Amino acid sequence: MIEDAAPRKKTISNPYIHRLQRRHFLLFDILPIIGTAGAFAFLIVRPFGVTELGLIFGMWLLTGLGITVGYHRLFTHRTFKTTPTVAAVLAVFGSMAGQGAVVSWVALHRRHHECSDQDGDPHSPNLSGTGWRGRLRGLAHSHFLWMRRHEYPNVVHYAPDLIRDRGLVRVARLYYWWVALGLLLPALIGGLVTLSWTGAVSGLLWGGFARMFLLEHIVWAINSFLHMFGTRPYDSRENSRNGAIFALVSLGESWHNNHHAFPESPSFGLDWYRLDPGYWLIKTLAAVGLARDLKVPTADRRESKRNSGTPDVSPSAA
Ligand SMILES: [Zn+2]
Ligand SMILES: [Zn+2]
Repeated sequence: MIEDAAPRKKTISNPYIHRLQRRHFLLFDILPIIGTAGAFAFLIVRPFGVTELGLIFGMWLLTGLGITVGYHRLFTHRTFKTTPTVAAVLAVFGSMAGQGAVVSWVALHRRHHECSDQDGDPHSPNLSGTGWRGRLRGLAHSHFLWMRRHEYPNVVHYAPDLIRDRGLVRVARLYYWWVALGLLLPALIGGLVTLSWTGAVSGLLWGGFARMFLLEHIVWAINSFLHMFGTRPYDSRENSRNGAIFALVSLGESWHNNHHAFPESPSFGLDWYRLDPGYWLIKTLAAVGLARDLKVPTADRRESKRNSGTPDVSPSAA
């Protein structure tokens, strides 16, 4: 039993994994850029109308809620409990975003919380040197470039609860099919609503690729900009920030300093006046009996973490 005697590795790095990462990067990070350029070019054939607007908005909302409520608040941080059906639906919508299968996404994000802005953080903007060059390099790395090739967090270590859930593993195994469905669905709706092939192509380009591009850059901006710029109402050991301006488009994700300070909270806004559509969905699910055990932090706990004005913890500001 030599394997058992060896300490379990936290990350895995080998040519096979890196090949898969490169393929994923080209298919789901580069291709949406080309698809979005194609969507603008296709305006010559078919102008942007109500159908395109409905498809890009509807698909952004579904997949965005799948990521923030499903992937992030439910599966990564277990901030509430729900039924297996709601969990599966959220996992499917999250998968359609093309940001990785649920088990890998959760493992990567748990490692981000464990190592935030330290060695081992998969996407910190603060570890690429000082000065404006270092900051720019850090932003490019954390926003986009890290996904080309990175250490893969061992899911046995980081997501044992998920790989024990057979239903969720089945959803994760079908990941590529869910992404394809997320592209075909707007094409089908676009074609049926307009009864034309150009409507189908326009649906694919706007509701599929451009929507994927839009949501990806919103989510990546949390990893990059909101670990460098923004406000810090709470003390936390990393350099996370809040960005009120992104609150609606990020469905509440941009209260990122709040989230690092209270990762167990289903509410990222924490106060009703901080817009947090992801939490509104969780509250709605709770109101109809489909979510329970919402772990919102008490006023005392929040007060104990208020930013006391300690110096900036950003390594680049040191
Ligand atoms: Zn998180
Ligand atoms: Zn973070």
